[in-house]
Amino acid sequence: MIIHGKNVDFVIEKGDPSGIVGSDPLNLRKNPKRVLSQLKRTKIKIPYLQECIGGYLNNDVGSFLDYCIKMVTQVFIEELKENPSFITSNNFIVNINLIFQNSTHLGKYFDKLSGLEKALFRVNPIGIIREIVFYGRFNLSEIIYHEFIHHLRNCYGKNAYQWIDKAIDQLAQQEQRDPSKITYLINAQCIIFVLDSVSNEGIAEFAAQYQKRKRIPFEKHIFAEIIFILDLLCTDFGPEVTNKATKILEQSRAAYKIGSLIVATIVLHKLFSNNKKFYAWLKIYGVWFGRRTYNAIEIGKFYNTKLFDLYFTYDDEETDRIVEQTIADIYGMSHLGFLKAYEEACVNLKIKPFFTLQIYDFYKRECWQNYQALKREGRI
Ligand SMILES: [Zn+2]
Repeated sequence: MIIHGKNVDFVIEKGDPSGIVGSDPLNLRKNPKRVLSQLKRTKIKIPYLQECIGGYLNNDVGSFLDYCIKMVTQVFIEELKENPSFITSNNFIVNINLIFQNSTHLGKYFDKLSGLEKALFRVNPIGIIREIVFYGRFNLSEIIYHEFIHHLRNCYGKNAYQWIDKAIDQLAQQEQRDPSKITYLINAQCIIFVLDSVSNEGIAEFAAQYQKRKRIPFEKHIFAEIIFILDLLCTDFGPEVTNKATKILEQSRAAYKIGSLIVATIVLHKLFSNNKKFYAWLKIYGVWFGRRTYNAIEIGKFYNTKLFDLYFTYDDEETDRIVEQTIADIYGMSHLGFLKAYEEACVNLKIKPFFTLQIYDFYKRECWQNYQALKREGRI
């Protein structure tokens, strides 16, 4: 298929949905009429969704699978048409791996298996239907947009793991292997992974919300999850520890929340330094305040309060251009450059930063020192 003058091929790998559709884990067949009328009420517009759910309700696995493929491919095509920059080569392969699981895993991008010529994604239609039926809202195009932002960052950004991947390789090649050193390196890699996730998920979450909902999410959340994970990684070693840490990171969605807040702060700084005014809705402890304009000093004041959410809108193209440019600049930043830009924004906006290079360095050092101490004591 030709999109924006480039040759795009879709390669779909599909799992077998028969077991999961047959057992009806979503419990939809008890009252199919209600499911369909509910679906109409939500006004969710995803191509072939109705047919897809119809196939599920009738336990018609063949038609369910056909419509899943149509639904997912169609949304991918729409995203590529709307966003020419997502097509990163003249002969571009979009590889979609469909899985069928009753879980909250909806989409994934595989950075190590992707590059300029090919992007590999995983999509879980059962998870998507689950979200729609249980929560009544869902935006498949936002998910796919989010995953493509990972692709852009992967193609044009910097690899955070270079030195540590090399160290693990070298260690594995050495004749006298030191398995405990590998456990240290894995924890150190995980600490980098935490920050890398914050920057990766942050930019993808921010860009998708900005693009699809035309708003700047500025949701302040407690930073405790990240600190807890970093603490865990620098005081204890071994596979269970890294498993626990990555699980908490995943379940809490901490990287998405903190990351998009960091991106929002960098964006706000760019907007204020360009003398841009914009409107915001403010929510403190569940209480909403009406739409009004804010300046940088006021934003700083709110930012330092304990908990608030701020939703920005704007109504000029110049603002749009600045936000888009800032997002593109962030793709190219390393995980450290990302924190640096955030700290700079905080200084200028007179905001107290949550996550700093100093905090990050502290945990990296702690990890190494604790590892050495445990080793001296013969505990690892
Ligand atoms: Zn993501």
